Amino acid sequence: MAEVKRMPSLTMDEVILLVDTYFQVKDITASTIKKELIQELSDSMRALPFFPEFKESPAFRSYSGMNMCLSRVASVDPFKISLFGRGSARQRRVFEYYSSRKATLHSVANTIKVIGCLDFPILPTYEDNIMGMLLPSYYEHLEQSDKIVKNARKVVLAQGKTKCFLCGCDLEEIYLGRANELLEAHITLPIAQISRREKITLSDILFLCPTCHKLAHTTPELIEEQNLRELVKGR
Ligand SMILES: [Zn+2]
Ligand SMILES: [Zn+2]
Repeated sequence: MAEVKRMPSLTMDEVILLVDTYFQVKDITASTIKKELIQELSDSMRALPFFPEFKESPAFRSYSGMNMCLSRVASVDPFKISLFGRGSARQRRVFEYYSSRKATLHSVANTIKVIGCLDFPILPTYEDNIMGMLLPSYYEHLEQSDKIVKNARKVVLAQGKTKCFLCGCDLEEIYLGRANELLEAHITLPIAQISRREKITLSDILFLCPTCHKLAHTTPELIEEQNLRELVKGR
């Protein structure tokens, strides 16, 4: 008898696609549109780079599986009474974070679908990131490999500009001449623009210390310069 493999639980990126679809189908009564959206969810999930060993299995992220997952999301929705299943902690977290940010969720989900087929390292440190693993890993990949970004970093270091944009600490001074190793380039291009694969320009780059850079990659809002500026203002 063929071995039946247990389907892996949903990654953060997959939960993001799921909850985005949930919000889209929630108020739709036309069953054909609903079916199309659920089928699209199943196809998108199957195209993501996670779990290649399951790709051959028709049960993997199938239409009926996705339908079941959507009922579980309904069980974490306080405005919907669902008697079916119980949402996972991840589903709850994504639902709660994005229920007041549906447009952001939609652009995060769309970008995950676009970059999901590109080849870049997926970093396990982002496993539980609210943007999923793919997006912050992709930003980090561009920040380390894009020619314009690399060049801009060299230029600011050569000009002796070694202060973090956000906290203002001077890495050269604090770490006794080690700014070269520590100053990090951060791309502030909003998520929707990243999915359009827009060219990065100098005005899309900020230089941060490693701690502030880590912070900038924690939410979809903090990627953008304007929101980082608000943080500085609030201090
Ligand atoms: Zn800093
Ligand atoms: Zn960054």
